[in-house]
Amino acid sequence: MIYVGIDLGGMSAKSGVFEDGRLIRKERVDTDPADGAEGVAEKIGALAKNVAAHAGLRFEDVQAIGIGSPGVIDSAAGVVAKWGNYNWRQVPLARMVADRTGKPVCLTNDANAAALGEAKFGAGANYKDCLLITLGTGVGGGIVLGGKLFEGYRSAGAEVGHMVIQTGGRRCGCGRRGCFEQYSSATALIRDTREAMESNRASLLWEIAGSLEKVDGSTAFKAARAGDETARRVVGDYIRYLAEGIANLVNIFRPQAVMLGGGVSNEGEALLVPLKEKVNERIYVGTEYAPLDILRAALGNDAGIYGAYAYALQRQTER
Ligand SMILES: [Zn+2]
Repeated sequence: MIYVGIDLGGMSAKSGVFEDGRLIRKERVDTDPADGAEGVAEKIGALAKNVAAHAGLRFEDVQAIGIGSPGVIDSAAGVVAKWGNYNWRQVPLARMVADRTGKPVCLTNDANAAALGEAKFGAGANYKDCLLITLGTGVGGGIVLGGKLFEGYRSAGAEVGHMVIQTGGRRCGCGRRGCFEQYSSATALIRDTREAMESNRASLLWEIAGSLEKVDGSTAFKAARAGDETARRVVGDYIRYLAEGIANLVNIFRPQAVMLGGGVSNEGEALLVPLKEKVNERIYVGTEYAPLDILRAALGNDAGIYGAYAYALQRQTER
């Protein structure tokens, strides 16, 4: 069985062709808001055909195409309801790509797709119930329950980054205060690292970063490893907030595993060991009754194409 998964982003569309669950070949093409919806649909259609052909597979044998897209996605309708960066409103992308390829096309949100990809083919392959939390520019993620993606009404659910963990806290782009992503994103960690540097001129953080502008998500972890007290406090606070958010999600969904993706997850054990301890202290009924694994996501940049493929599979079996 052959499927194509497409991971649409702001700068490019990535594709993967899968045969019997194996990724055979990847290809990508640059995209630009100036392409317009028609131009993007055209590029995706051509990309799907090319990746199959260049893998030596017949496009006629492709069962379906899955697409993960940024923005607010009405997945049942196959419509990009809203994508700010591309200024799209109500774009029927699934139908537009189906018209160009003659294949069934399924569309979902990119973060949800990544969660399903990790759950089925990555770090979550041994679990039925798992969550992906992506620590990047924001906090994204997705929820897979009983092996299926949970999307909520009009696929507007699973916005884990906009769960408030500090009432009256930091202002968030969504309009509320104290959202999870204001404390646990890489952006938040960078902000907190800079604030700590400004209030502590003697910190090793200055030497490690070079300047405020060069601070990234790994700066505080590096300085903490070198024994800097200021950095240890930044990292400790970051992990505590992350643990609060994860514990809230675990108390609601009680997954078997929480997978962490995004740049900050590259810290590995320096993040995971203290995080597990803090999450375990906070979760209801404890870990003896219902053990919880917290682990790094495994698919990296390929999570999106695996997820788009997995989503197409899920939708096909629902039909
Ligand atoms: Zn928010």
